[in-house]
Amino acid sequence: MKNSYLWILLIIFIGTGCSCKKNNEDQGDQDQPVKNITILYTNDEHGWMASNDDADGAPGIMKMWKSLEGYDGSDAFLVLSGGDMWSGPALSTWFEGKSMVEVMNAMEYDAAVIGNHEFDFTVEILEERLQEMDFPLLAANITTKSGNQIPGFALPYMIEDCNGVKVGIVGLASTTTPWTTFPANVEDYNFTDYEDALIKYVPEAKNDGAEVIIVAGHICESEMEALIPVAKAQGVTIITGGHCHEKVAKMQDGVLLIEAGSYMRNYAKVELSYDKNSGNTSIISYTLVENNKGSLDNDVENIVSYWQQEEQNALGEVIGYCSATIERGSAGMANMITDSWLVSYPDAHVSLTNAGGIRQDIPAGDITLGTIVGVLPFENSIIKLELTGEQLIECIDYLLPGGMTTIEGYNFLDGTPVDYSTTYTVLITDYLYSLSNSDFSKYDPDPEFTSSNYRDPTIDWIKSLNTTTQDPLNNYLDNTPRR
Ligand SMILES: [Zn+2]
Repeated sequence: MKNSYLWILLIIFIGTGCSCKKNNEDQGDQDQPVKNITILYTNDEHGWMASNDDADGAPGIMKMWKSLEGYDGSDAFLVLSGGDMWSGPALSTWFEGKSMVEVMNAMEYDAAVIGNHEFDFTVEILEERLQEMDFPLLAANITTKSGNQIPGFALPYMIEDCNGVKVGIVGLASTTTPWTTFPANVEDYNFTDYEDALIKYVPEAKNDGAEVIIVAGHICESEMEALIPVAKAQGVTIITGGHCHEKVAKMQDGVLLIEAGSYMRNYAKVELSYDKNSGNTSIISYTLVENNKGSLDNDVENIVSYWQQEEQNALGEVIGYCSATIERGSAGMANMITDSWLVSYPDAHVSLTNAGGIRQDIPAGDITLGTIVGVLPFENSIIKLELTGEQLIECIDYLLPGGMTTIEGYNFLDGTPVDYSTTYTVLITDYLYSLSNSDFSKYDPDPEFTSSNYRDPTIDWIKSLNTTTQDPLNNYLDNTPRR
């Protein structure tokens, strides 16, 4: 009898949303032993705050949170990001994430994990963003090389009071960070083992009073799965992920794994209850929700519009015209970028870049400076190396080549084979050069650093063509694959 009464109460509380919560407080909800919490989660937002062809951006998510989930900013909601918040379209990248922070403040995020791309603009800029953020950055597995301490910009965990329940959130940064952001930006830090961090910090969070433990990670599904045994042993209820842009929502061995895709195209919603008397946590429901309802939150939309105007002022210059989408992963895109470097540096023979440095399509229509900033968003510069043909072939591996092809042997575009003993001038990014496993630095320890960002030659080349609706950029692409 008691139980059924409790369930009726629970149903009332879940069913009627925010106004009910206020009533609960007025009527002494503190006495109710079972508390409900709703977690709203996004990851790998990558600055995709504006509504676009694929999703309704941050204003769409906020609208859905308010209208579908009853989100009222109250402490019965826990809003988390799995990291990689801001490297992406010019709307975020050009402002080094400042615009994205404003949007996430307005959405009242409670915390974010530190993604590898949070370091893209240097730790100094990360700390600037942190000053603007109304929420902390979490990572329990970043330590300073100098003092073996968690750095000042990170908290290993936080305890959030959610509807009367103390929720401990332990953050995990990706151990790939030293090579998935610009290596020099994180050279002062170690990114340490996930399990060790949980074994150290989950008990600390519990000692600090955490009743429910969530591990919020910028980690992929396979890494989440690998952590299940230690998570179970430590009493972790949920592991969230990011970095790999996967969609994950599943119970595995009693631990809930959640990852909500990327680019604000989805969010995850988890409802859980905690029984103060028994200390039991129950997952009531979990789901991934698509952000495509077509309705926008005005306040968040106003912030996005403000920054769109700022982008227009800074990067609105039209530099060309595209009649059909040039896809991010296409040969036409790769060849255009790498070949444009050789136009800017005609004394070089070959250029090489990595597919990961190319981040979005060029959509049909006018091409602005902002378009290309979004395609090539990183603060990477071009450097010139001297490599023998043999060294070049050894290094070319997975890279996208300009000026040559790796199909049916290693040949320049005019058909001349690469000669093993000849020395060639090769253009790469300082990012590729500074990777710790890079052979480039071994083969040429004294390269020439140019002042060109890796996007500059592409912008210059597109401008030089004066493309129009009658004569679009697509006419000038070399669409033949080279690897
Ligand atoms: Zn990442």
